[in-house]
Amino acid sequence: MLHIELAEQYGAHNYHPLPVVISKAEGVWVWDIEGNRYLDMLSSYSALNQGHRHPKIVQAMKEQLDRVTLTSRAFHNDQMGSFMKLLCEVSQMDKALLMNSGAEAVETAIKAARKWGYRVKGVAKEKAEIIVCENNFHGRTTTIVGFSSEEQYKEDFGPFTPGFVTIKYGDADALAAQINENTVAFLFEPIQGEGGILLPQTGFLSEARRICSENRVLLIADEIQTGLGRTGKMFACEHEGVKPDILVVGKALGGGLYPVSGILASKEIMDLFRPGDHGSTFGGNPLACACGKAALEVLVNEHLPEHANELGEYFLTKLRNIDSPHVKEVRGKGLLIGLEINKESGPARPFCEALSKRGILAKETHEQVIRFAPPLVITREQIDWVLEQVQAVLLEK
Ligand SMILES: *Cc1c(COP(=O)(O)O)cnc(C)c1O
Repeated sequence: MLHIELAEQYGAHNYHPLPVVISKAEGVWVWDIEGNRYLDMLSSYSALNQGHRHPKIVQAMKEQLDRVTLTSRAFHNDQMGSFMKLLCEVSQMDKALLMNSGAEAVETAIKAARKWGYRVKGVAKEKAEIIVCENNFHGRTTTIVGFSSEEQYKEDFGPFTPGFVTIKYGDADALAAQINENTVAFLFEPIQGEGGILLPQTGFLSEARRICSENRVLLIADEIQTGLGRTGKMFACEHEGVKPDILVVGKALGGGLYPVSGILASKEIMDLFRPGDHGSTFGGNPLACACGKAALEVLVNEHLPEHANELGEYFLTKLRNIDSPHVKEVRGKGLLIGLEINKESGPARPFCEALSKRGILAKETHEQVIRFAPPLVITREQIDWVLEQVQAVLLEK
């Protein structure tokens, strides 16, 4: 396998991919270099909610490619304003600040919250604290891995940024107990995707909202993976009617064509940024904005959150009905579903390998969990076909 050997020889080994070499994709399907077809049940960690190469997004980007692609923020461009307006309408927030990768957007949220803490809440200089959760995943920068609870993410990469306090995920009492005069924000994922598709108890989001409001602490929702339709609502916080103070978006905001991320916040928070405080050469570039606008329009016009809600419930119910001794639990919301394999049945990876032989690309997360997160454009018939393959793999093992 030439491509794999080249990648092994010339690339850093910071991933452990399944041995499939993809050379073409469309909608929910990808093809390898030998022409084998697979249904993509990972969607690049939910960056492909609109499906591979959605024609509307491809068209918007092609048109933008023929006009202007990069201006830097030293000048205005004719795409950014209208993209941010749409993004604010879709999220019901006041203002946006655009970045590229998810990790950069999380860093931006941390800076915004700290600045708000010093300027508005009156926290003493250099004392700001942000509460985070065990098992979190917010990206790979040194600051972010510094407050991860995953040893491997941190090992050999210190020293780390101080000012983070960890609580158990979903524990509202612990949240309340850790808040003090220096606490500026609570940063969390409405569902922990990388953590293994972990859902907090119903009511946690609204409890967290209440606790933060009562204590003048900003609620920062990292919806990079759960947002933009994935869980059956445009944003997962909507399941409990919660509006965060800072909303972090990425992944599917670029429709799988281009990295587009950012934070959304109230005017009060966002207007604390002055020229020179923060920036990014590529953040808000016209190609990204044209792409992001089309990506949002597809989500709205094709009712993908509603579709994810309906098909997600169907898929979850059917998966739970599979009677296999290997399955410990099936959990999820919308089309973000985890199937946990019993420890006695070994790790999830061989199950993923068996699925790939049957034309389904899924990836394990955290040893025991198979993640099912197909593009939201998947049909019921395609889900039925996936169910047949999953059932076969769980029965033949
Ligand atoms: C993927 C992800 C990130 C990081 O995004 P990158 O684009 O890989 O930097 C942050 N938070 C969550 C919840 C994610 O799923």
